[in-house]
Amino acid sequence: MRESWQRRFAEAPDVLLEARRRRTIVPVRNLAVGGDDFVTMAGPCSVESEHQLMATAYCVRDAGARILRGGAFKPRSSPYSFQGLGLEGLKLLAKAREETDLAIVTEVMSECDVPLVAEYTDILQIGSRNMENYALLEAAARSGRPILLKRGMMATIADLFRSAQVILANGNPNVILCERGIRTFETAMRNTFDAAGIVLLKQVTHLPVIADPSHAAGFRELVPALARTGIAAGADGLLVEVHPDPDKAWSDGEQSLDFAGFAGMMAGLEPWIALRGAALREEKLEQPDSTNRRLAEVMA
Ligand code: PEP
Ligand code: MN
Repeated sequence: MRESWQRRFAEAPDVLLEARRRRTIVPVRNLAVGGDDFVTMAGPCSVESEHQLMATAYCVRDAGARILRGGAFKPRSSPYSFQGLGLEGLKLLAKAREETDLAIVTEVMSECDVPLVAEYTDILQIGSRNMENYALLEAAARSGRPILLKRGMMATIADLFRSAQVILANGNPNVILCERGIRTFETAMRNTFDAAGIVLLKQVTHLPVIADPSHAAGFRELVPALARTGIAAGADGLLVEVHPDPDKAWSDGEQSLDFAGFAGMMAGLEPWIALRGAALREEKLEQPDSTNRRLAEVMA
């Protein structure tokens, strides 16, 4: 690895690919995140009701998602917005898992809630606003659950690595990084999707990387193209917001796909995911750039 990166990321030595030589594959129920399989996590921004969650769970499963997402504790931009159903939301997620056999990912916002949320979920999500909450990271790490660590909206890659290092240093090797867009001078979209960041993460770390095109874009029309971009950049999976009636969603409706939109996106991603699989088999997970080369060959 380039010496300048070694210097830049010196405070997160265990995160770097060199430290392990092998890529981390995170076991989640009967799945492996970061291995050969491309893993899509999808579901509503917030758990709103049993009907909303169950309908969405069946839709995303039938379209190919393997993990159901849904917030029970919501960090909202406005303090007056819906804050989540809390325990009732966790119970609905557990019910959805039982009925559909999908694994669950949900956010934990406070270190006090870690034991409760960990009891219900397969993956603990640390949200963008909490990426540098080290007390929360330590508590989440010690729960032993895999952790989906979302990049802070104003965090550099070095900041993201320091947070991942906190989790690894607290004895939890199962960290999944998530690029969800960062704040830049551009305001046309909710955030700026750092596709180059995904390329870099895959080159310098051994951790799985998930792309979240929904929070990156802020608008559903952009989500399928950003999902394809994420795959081409080397992501191991996606995190996508889906709602039965996005215009009536209690949070993040504008960026949520409806059922037909999600199924259409997933069908359209199939050739991209197949190319990724072929590239990985050929290069034994070492060079995400090979996906792009293969795409270029196909397009030529
Ligand atoms: C979410 O996943 O719904 C969420 C709140 O994400 P972020 O922390 O990336 O804003
Ligand atoms: Mn959301």
